[in-house]
Amino acid sequence: MSNRTFTMIKPDATQNGHTGGILAMINEAGFRIVAMKTTQLSAEKAGEFYAVHKERPFYGELVAFMSRGPITAAILEKSNAVEDFRKLIGATNPAQADEGTIRKKYATSIGENAVHGSDSDENAAVEGAFFFSKLEQF
Ligand code: ATP
Ligand code: MG
Repeated sequence: MSNRTFTMIKPDATQNGHTGGILAMINEAGFRIVAMKTTQLSAEKAGEFYAVHKERPFYGELVAFMSRGPITAAILEKSNAVEDFRKLIGATNPAQADEGTIRKKYATSIGENAVHGSDSDENAAVEGAFFFSKLEQF
């Protein structure tokens, strides 16, 4: 069990003005922000980030969506961070997300689902390093 995970507030939530609301939920759930930046992914960088989904039918749609506007990327710290953050964001499909989760409140569809959360300690480390150097992590 590691104490760090990685998140992105996706372009849909950014465009809809939900960045502050999502950060408040993250804060209230007890996560500490280790690093944070707002940036926009090129299609190439979005494709690289989600390369694990390359063979999936929604890959092209996912890359276009993730590069269409700004995102906020962050490394978060808390005990049991990966698992607890996946609980906080809720199911991939917001129709199946529990009450009180970020996706229940802010996601609009299975594709445009407001936030990303790492699915393992190993991926949390890789994804955090994708956006932040050691000097940018506090
Ligand atoms: P994320 O990795 O972004 O936290 P997740 O782990 O809940 O989401 P994954 O299976 O890793 O879900 O899918 C990555 C992303 O691809 C989803 O968050 C969503 O934006 C998109 N996606 C997944 N399934 C579909 C689908 N059936 N149709 C369209 N987009 C999808
Ligand atoms: Mg995933």
